[in-house]
Amino acid sequence: MPFGTQINGLSVDVEDWFQVGAFEKVIARDDWSGLAMRVERNCDEILQLFDDAGVKGTFFTLGWVAERHPALMRRIAAQGHEIASHGWDHERVFRLGRTDFAADIARARRVIEDASGEAVTGYRAPSFSIDARTPWAFEVLAEQGYAYSSSVAPIAHDHYGWREAPRFAFKPIADSDLVEIPVTTAQFGGRRLAAGGGGFFRVLPYGFSRWAIRQVNREDERPAVFYFHPWEIDPGQPRVAGAPLRSRLRHYTNLGVMADKLGRLIGDFRWGRMDELAAREAARTVAAPVALAA
Ligand SMILES: [Zn+2]
Repeated sequence: MPFGTQINGLSVDVEDWFQVGAFEKVIARDDWSGLAMRVERNCDEILQLFDDAGVKGTFFTLGWVAERHPALMRRIAAQGHEIASHGWDHERVFRLGRTDFAADIARARRVIEDASGEAVTGYRAPSFSIDARTPWAFEVLAEQGYAYSSSVAPIAHDHYGWREAPRFAFKPIADSDLVEIPVTTAQFGGRRLAAGGGGFFRVLPYGFSRWAIRQVNREDERPAVFYFHPWEIDPGQPRVAGAPLRSRLRHYTNLGVMADKLGRLIGDFRWGRMDELAAREAARTVAAPVALAA
């Protein structure tokens, strides 16, 4: 029996092994097209895993990937999952500026919708890069009619994070229903820890993730938001030479055990699509007393 009554958000950030932020200094965007793409086979494995468990989730997809794999987009949608946007080519929001960000997400959405045949209503920033530097990003999302964003990591981390942000859903713009659903954190000994996926889930023992999500469901009485990447279940991916040791350790640890760990996680809790979670959270969240200025 899955734990409790909260329906948590299950999400996949659809990007390939060469598109991660940790490798951007050693693999140029111009070289992406010449590399072996593994995202489609890895997503098919994830679709099988979800189907076996009878769960639905959300696939935050790069426009760059959707353009090259339209059949995959249609398969994901046909199996009842949500396809949302992860931007065009994984450039972080704080590097784009307002005008380029607006163009990036408009282009990604158009291509993803054309490929999948479904409307896109949700967005996740690459590397959770909406933070105190980008108070305009939510305005742009609202202007373009998005229902929700899941783009904030309310922690301090070496690559990302906005430690002052709320831990749970908030409406960042006073006259808009746009809701932000931050990725899950846990409170431990007075500290906030990342607890929604990524290296945290893959590297640490599974029991830690189970404890954290139970704490969020039971003590905070809120849904958790979990994310992972297709390359995290792929021990056969090419190894990137020349990346910093710390990045390589984080990227390649425990790839072989990830599918089993995911299976346990999916079986231990209740899961659903992010758009449905966002609608429930929006209904219980009043518009936004959150100070967004840096
Ligand atoms: Zn990403």
